[in-house]
Amino acid sequence: MGVPAARIVFDESDRRAVADAVTEMLSTGALTLGPWTERFEEAFATEHGATHAVAVASGTAALEIVLRAIDVRGRDVVVPAVTFYATAAAVVHAGGRPVLADIDPDTLALSPGTVEAVLTPATAAVVLVHIGGLITPHVDALRALCDRRGIPLVEDAAHAHGSSYDGRAAGTFGLAGAFSFYPTKVTTSGEGGMILTESAEIRDEARIHRDQGKGAFTANHHIRHGASWRMSEPNAAVGTVHLRRLKEFLETRRRVARRYDAGLAGLDGLRTPVEPAGCRSNYYKYVALLPPGVDRAAFKRAVAEGHGVRLSGEVYDLPLHHQPVFAEYRDARLPVSEDVCARQICLPVHSDMTEDETDQVIEAVSAVHRRLAG
Ligand SMILES: *Cc1c(COP(=O)(O)O)cnc(C)c1O
Repeated sequence: MGVPAARIVFDESDRRAVADAVTEMLSTGALTLGPWTERFEEAFATEHGATHAVAVASGTAALEIVLRAIDVRGRDVVVPAVTFYATAAAVVHAGGRPVLADIDPDTLALSPGTVEAVLTPATAAVVLVHIGGLITPHVDALRALCDRRGIPLVEDAAHAHGSSYDGRAAGTFGLAGAFSFYPTKVTTSGEGGMILTESAEIRDEARIHRDQGKGAFTANHHIRHGASWRMSEPNAAVGTVHLRRLKEFLETRRRVARRYDAGLAGLDGLRTPVEPAGCRSNYYKYVALLPPGVDRAAFKRAVAEGHGVRLSGEVYDLPLHHQPVFAEYRDARLPVSEDVCARQICLPVHSDMTEDETDQVIEAVSAVHRRLAG
C-alpha cells in the first residue's frame, strides 16, 4: 500500500480529450497562439472571475512579464523570504532588486506589518505569494497599503488555482496575478503560466512581451525586449482539459484537509494549518509545523520507512536568504521565515485522494509523532 508524495490526475476521458485535441492541431498545423490558447485563457479568466487572461510559457515568465510591464528596473521589489526561488528570480531577470520581507506565522504570507517594515521610496512593487494555496485575510489591507504608497501589488498565485478570500478568487486582488501550470500544481498544462489582470494595458503588454516583444502577431517590428514566452497549443489543450476538473479537485482536497484537521487535532505541539474566516484554500499544500526540536529529516524517514507514507515537498525548507544563490542576503534576520521553513512538513494531498489513504497518513504521522515528539 503506502501513499505517494504526489499524484497527477488525468482520467481516461481526459487523456482521450487531450489526444483528440492534439490530433486536431497536428492536422491543422495551429501549434502555437491558436484556438486552444484562447480557450484556455477564456476558461481560466471565467473560473477566477477575472477580466483578462494571457497564457504564457511558465509561471516564472508570467511574473517576469508583469514586472517588466511595471518596469521595476533599478528599483526594489518586496517578496516574502518564504517562497519559491522563481518569485525572486523573476525580479532579478526583470532588472529589479528583491527585498525580502518576513511572513505572518498564521498565514505564512506577507502581512501589512512585515511589508511596511521594508518599504522605501525605491519600492517598485510588492509580490504577495499565496503559500500552500491560502490567501491571507489581510489581502485587502495589503492592497490598501500599496495603494496609499502608489505601489502595485502583484500576486504570485502559482499555488492558488481556484483559492478564494471573501468570495474573490486568487489573481484578482492586485494589478495582476501570475499562475503556474507546472506538473506539481493543482492544475497543469505540462509547462505553462497565466497572467490574470483587470488592466487592458497589462494585458496588451503581456501579449507583446510573450511573443518576442513584437508590436503585432503578424508584424516583425519589436517594440519591447520580450522573449519566447508563448504557450504552445498542446500545452493549452492539456491545461484546458485539466482546468475543467478544478472544482471537483478542490472539493476532494478540502475534504482531505478537514479529515487531517480532525485526525491530527490531538497531537501535542503539532500545529495544523488554520483556515481563517472567509478563506477557502485549494490545499495545494497541507502545511503543518512540527514541535520545536523535532528532527524533520528523521520524522520524514520514519513515516516513509515505517509506514510507506511519503510527505510532499516543503514550501519551503529554506528561506530565500539561505539559498546559496542569494548569499548577499545571508545575514538578514527574518526569524518567522526561518522558523517556519525549519519546522514545516507537508502532508500529501492528491486531487483523487481516498479516505483510506488519508487515514494511512494520519496513522503514520500520529505514530511517528508519539515516538519522536511525544
Ligand atoms: C511553481 C512556482 C513558480 C514558478 O512556476 P514555473 O511554471 O515553474 O515557472 C513561481 N512561484 C511559485 C510560488 C511557485 O510555486
